[in-house]
Amino acid sequence: MANQKEYPRNRADSKIGKIVVDRDLCIGAASCLAVSGTTYELDGENKAVVTGADSVDDATLMMSAESCPTKAILLFDKEGKQVFPK
Ligand code: SF4
Repeated sequence: MANQKEYPRNRADSKIGKIVVDRDLCIGAASCLAVSGTTYELDGENKAVVTGADSVDDATLMMSAESCPTKAILLFDKEGKQVFPK
């Protein structure tokens, strides 16, 4: 099973209810941090962890997920449906 870590998102103005980082896919490229430095940090294994799930709006969060070269960031809506990657 994939090594995925889930982070709930609770912004009232957001359609995204959950951010998932697939730690097997993450290569520590840090593009996500470049787009949204308040959402992610790299941990001791050079894998992205979400430290600010509610810190940016949906457009910025989507851009950060799109920036990941390995598509290690998955976004889900509040009903649990995957919205990125499609
Ligand atoms: S952009 Fe993707 S591969 Fe790079 S640190 Fe973020 S999640 Fe990991």
